[in-house]
Amino acid sequence: MKEIIDLSALPEIDRDIYLNDSWCDDCNEADLGINNPELYIDGGRKYIGGTCKVCGAICTSEIIEKHME
Ligand SMILES: [Zn+2]
Repeated sequence: MKEIIDLSALPEIDRDIYLNDSWCDDCNEADLGINNPELYIDGGRKYIGGTCKVCGAICTSEIIEKHME
């Protein structure tokens, strides 16, 4: 089951982290940034999907949460 998270409801700093924490298979490069982002939770894992800012391919990356406790 996929649960969509409203990106616009997040603090800007969190949004920036998610949008820049991307991997593109086509470019074979990380952190290129994504357009039309969609943040969702699936099977207890958090993913960010969208299209690559560089080549336009659809990419989906799992978000690895870094807890600072
Ligand atoms: Zn790309």
